[in-house]
Amino acid sequence: MSNTNRYEPSKEHLLAIFHIFQYYFDKIFPNKHCYLCHQTSDTLVCEYCLTDTYLHLLPAPGHNLLENQSIVGNIVPPLYSGLYALSEYKGVVRALVNQLKFSGKTLAANVLAEFFEYYLGGKLNINQAIPEAVVPVPLSNQRHISRQYNQSRILSLELAKHFSINSDDLLLRTVNTKQQSSLDKNERMLNIRGAFKVAKPIDYLSIALVDDVVTTGATINEACKTILEHNPDIDISVWCMAITLK
Ligand SMILES: [Zn+2]
Repeated sequence: MSNTNRYEPSKEHLLAIFHIFQYYFDKIFPNKHCYLCHQTSDTLVCEYCLTDTYLHLLPAPGHNLLENQSIVGNIVPPLYSGLYALSEYKGVVRALVNQLKFSGKTLAANVLAEFFEYYLGGKLNINQAIPEAVVPVPLSNQRHISRQYNQSRILSLELAKHFSINSDDLLLRTVNTKQQSSLDKNERMLNIRGAFKVAKPIDYLSIALVDDVVTTGATINEACKTILEHNPDIDISVWCMAITLK
């Protein structure tokens, strides 16, 4: 007799089970070690790592990068009023983003949010650049299914906790676009066109779109366009963990 009815869990099922297990394990046994140096620590990032880890910080972190002409020259003309990034897409931040994105290490998002608040929080406060809510940029359905989670949403939830504001899923992805990484700036703009719709009415005066890495800004700009069509008066800024500098 053949075994055609035997249950064989797919890789996605196993990963989903693992994430659920990891979630409850972390609840029952809260992290007691620093994520970065593994020394005993009551916080996810120990004091030493928080202050002394070498990051490829951008000049004057917490200032609006749209005031920097060399950055503006490399991105799609922005529909948002502010761009705030923790670091260049290099070193520790690059490693953390990749752990979050490709290895299922969702705690990496907490670490990134810790650094973001530490280096940018005070400055954003002074510049009155703390929005009413953070909004994750949604992944295409295909990538969401294969990855099981949206890294921008996890980052958005973490940042919301750190800044005591809402994380609100205002956007939905409507079409599965090609992966942006293989495309140039103009191809990215065309590829992402019409990829979003709003999930609900938008009543906020100010929001920050959250994404892990900004390269040409084509995706966040399209997300802005979609939001502005529904609420032209809203102030949108972008909070990202890293930007790719040319
Ligand atoms: Zn440490």
